[in-house]
Amino acid sequence: MMEPRKEIWELIEKGKVEELLHRAAVLHGHYCPGLALGVKGSYELVKRLNLKSDGMEDVLAIVETNNCSTDGVQFVTGCSFGNNSLIFRDLGKTAFTLSDRGGNSLRARVVNDASGHWEEKVEDFSGLFEKVVEKREGDEDDKEKLMDVSEKASVAVIHTDSEKIFDFEKVELDIPDYAPIHESHICDQCGEKVMATRTVERDADVLCLSCADEGYSELTGYGIQGVEW
Ligand SMILES: [Zn+2]
Ligand SMILES: [Zn+2]
Repeated sequence: MMEPRKEIWELIEKGKVEELLHRAAVLHGHYCPGLALGVKGSYELVKRLNLKSDGMEDVLAIVETNNCSTDGVQFVTGCSFGNNSLIFRDLGKTAFTLSDRGGNSLRARVVNDASGHWEEKVEDFSGLFEKVVEKREGDEDDKEKLMDVSEKASVAVIHTDSEKIFDFEKVELDIPDYAPIHESHICDQCGEKVMATRTVERDADVLCLSCADEGYSELTGYGIQGVEW
């Protein structure tokens, strides 16, 4: 049987967490403590529960915010937005849960003062972050410096004892059923193929939400929000 994630499971088995960070950065685009937290926390969950997702919804990951850590979670657990094994709860907490369908589950939450553990090892991370990201005032030179200290900070996260940066707890979960397969319709106005659950009937027509000027939800950097047309 093909096992496309074989290399990733081997890295997890051998405890090569820094290598997992470098692989996850290919997806994420930059190095940062957030990505490293997702990688490190997920590594612990996969290892402690011994759950390997094959992307068929038997193993599920739950994230409670959409920030950098989420890419680390998707990469290391194999539970992704695309394979319907990632559940997003818009709660604004940096916490990840891994679970099978039998109730074998564990949640890792980043402790409130976690950043102290890597900021002390990396000079000027928070100052640069504030200037470049929060205030958007940095020049190219500052941005380059931030990228450099971000990589150092992310590696520092990886090498920090996980008990210092995460609280682990057993949790009881309501796991949704396997994702339904929906039939498709062709919108009578724009002619585009659309999932039946995202259509509305208008007079004798079946319309997509855009053509019907209906609201829908979107996930952006602000979280999940309703969009009115
Ligand atoms: Zn990031
Ligand atoms: Zn349409």
